[in-house]
Amino acid sequence: MTKPCVCVTGSTQGIGFAIAEAFAKTGARLVINSHEPNSTSVRALAKLTECHFVQADLSSAEGATSFVEQAHQKLGSLDTLVNNAGIFNDSDFGTLDETLFDSAFNLNVKGYLFAAQAFCAKVRADQDGASIICIGSTNSVSAERNSVIYDSTKGAILMMVRSLAVSLADRGIRVNGVGPGIIQTPLTQPGLDKGETRAVLTRQIPLGRIGKPEDVGGAAVFLASPEARYITGQMLYVDGGIIARQISWDEPV
Ligand code: NAD
Repeated sequence: MTKPCVCVTGSTQGIGFAIAEAFAKTGARLVINSHEPNSTSVRALAKLTECHFVQADLSSAEGATSFVEQAHQKLGSLDTLVNNAGIFNDSDFGTLDETLFDSAFNLNVKGYLFAAQAFCAKVRADQDGASIICIGSTNSVSAERNSVIYDSTKGAILMMVRSLAVSLADRGIRVNGVGPGIIQTPLTQPGLDKGETRAVLTRQIPLGRIGKPEDVGGAAVFLASPEARYITGQMLYVDGGIIARQISWDEPV
């Protein structure tokens, strides 16, 4: 049986790396990515499977297209694209500016869309099981204070998943999302380590702990697998129950 070919954007650390690792454990052939040079992550994954690294900045249409084209060149075919590279750079609403807005939308939204377009151009008419997975967030549906730019980018991803799912269904390309809750990664670590933050957050998560990047990997592997053949246009939240929770009469303190 031929091994699936998977490319993951923003995958040298954090959630992207864990997703790549989860695919590596299934024997998939991989291309990982960052805008910065990296050799350690690719070496670690190469112990598990064939793994290549493509340096590309995913925050422009050109960078996103170039990443997918280079990934296709390295693997000869592509079955799954995982759009993961994203940033959080909001500050107080009153001081936000156009530069922050553009950098977040360029990477978190534009990069996803043009990587998806380039991926679809590489999917052959006779190819079975191609799919795109977009990393959204609990912020796709629930707002956080002082996060209007990030919340808006992740809300856009929820609709991008649905819209692409509808547009690409007749080509047999499924499009789904994974919406992590609070996951400990280099992005969130500094915030989690501030004062009582970790304890305050943990008390509000029904499953009673901050997520680990490995918690997200399995969801992406499932959505790309034949087991998910009738699933498209969905966002699977991997959040320890955050979104399921209503405000409570007996809030834990
Ligand atoms: P992270 O900062 O730890 O890792 C981001 C990765 O993207 C790194 O490999 C980095 O090199 C790469 N990257 C950054 N800018 C890039 C660019 N311009 N082009 C290409 N690659 C670039 O982040 P993370 O916490 O692992 O988050 C990954 C994704 O998950 C993001 O889309 C984020 O919004 C989403 N997410 C994270 C959490 C969380 O709690 N950590 C929760 C919900 C959603």
